[in-house]
Amino acid sequence: MLKQLASGRAIVFSIIAGFILGYLSFKLGYSEFASYIKPVGKVFIQLLKMMIVPLVFSSIFMAVINLGTPEKLKRIGLKALLYYFTTTCIAAFIGLIAVNLIQPGKGVDIGSLPTEKVSENLSATLKAGADSGVLKSVLKVLQDAIPTNPVAAFANADILQIIVFSIFLSLAALFFRKESEPLINIVASLEFLSLKLVQAIMLIAPFGIFALLFDVMAQSGLDVIFVLGKYVMTVVSGLLIHFIILAFIGGYLIKISPIQLIHKLAKPILTAFSTASSAATLPLTMQTVEDNLNVDKETSKFVLPLGATINMDGTALYESVAVIFIGQVYGLDLSLTNQLIIFVTASLAAVGAAAIPQAGIVTMGIVLSAVGFPLDAIALILSVDRIVDMFRTAVNVFGDCIGACFVSFTKMNKTS
Ligand code: ASP
Repeated sequence: MLKQLASGRAIVFSIIAGFILGYLSFKLGYSEFASYIKPVGKVFIQLLKMMIVPLVFSSIFMAVINLGTPEKLKRIGLKALLYYFTTTCIAAFIGLIAVNLIQPGKGVDIGSLPTEKVSENLSATLKAGADSGVLKSVLKVLQDAIPTNPVAAFANADILQIIVFSIFLSLAALFFRKESEPLINIVASLEFLSLKLVQAIMLIAPFGIFALLFDVMAQSGLDVIFVLGKYVMTVVSGLLIHFIILAFIGGYLIKISPIQLIHKLAKPILTAFSTASSAATLPLTMQTVEDNLNVDKETSKFVLPLGATINMDGTALYESVAVIFIGQVYGLDLSLTNQLIIFVTASLAAVGAAAIPQAGIVTMGIVLSAVGFPLDAIALILSVDRIVDMFRTAVNVFGDCIGACFVSFTKMNKTS
């Protein structure tokens, strides 16, 4: 019974119910209902987030300990980075092709578009990103990855910093194995309990997911999508193509059909879709990849937290579409050189995006400024961004799962 409650089918059902009932309450003028239902979704996300820090720390630590040598860690790390780099570039490229073929911004009357005012906060963040430029922004991500104070990294739930600290600590533990035994036992136990808690939290997933979707629909309905329909369609079709390519790669790697693969990964994909956060989905992603795809634990524990933080195919694709869409609407310079700059910067900006809702729109400032487009133009797409975010986050998480398959499979080939 409990298992059924947390099953993929129950989650699909709650997504559909959330969409329909949320939309109905929007249409019938009962949007305020959302304020009573929303807390359930919030509680669900907060419970998942509660598990991120203990799970990431203990997983990475135990992955390194179980790998046993720094060389193996290096091999996995390099393979993961190669995968991230390649698939992110492919995604940004698909975005470019889609937006050039469909041309969603051509001939659009700006007056007909909803221009939400860009908040002062967002405006300042966009400007800060734009001022530092793409190279500095990427270097800053790398530099900030090293925590000056691990306790602060834990307190701020800075995943990248926790990963770095955890790798350092576990490498030291490898060298001083005997002296580290008490700590290894504690961390192993922390990891075990974290996974058990994630299982328990997933029991309320259908309710949480229903509440989240109800809220999104009750607040904005679908009308906003129709106004920017062509833009949303361009992003979503690009994402779908990338998703299908990944499904074939993953299916080939683990020797099942792409449909079976999607079915096995339904829970994290749908949770990513509803929460719009790769980080909040991470505990579930790790568990599903290990249980359903038989990816070896050392790989998944190491590759998935890293992937959730820096591997964002969906975000790269969306950023290249969005910036070119803005260029098309305003009639700005979309020469080949500018498109190339957008391709490169969108791929890099995606690395810098945090794994939280609507982080992608913030790093888009880097892409816009690289080609000299006005930052305020983001206002054009703001109203549909939460909805687009659901789709791109699902692709981000799916990409992370296939990355774990890639690293695990090629590793097995080597050792067999
Ligand atoms: N919400 C996305 C994620 O968590 C990031 C983005 O805004 O593109 O993966």
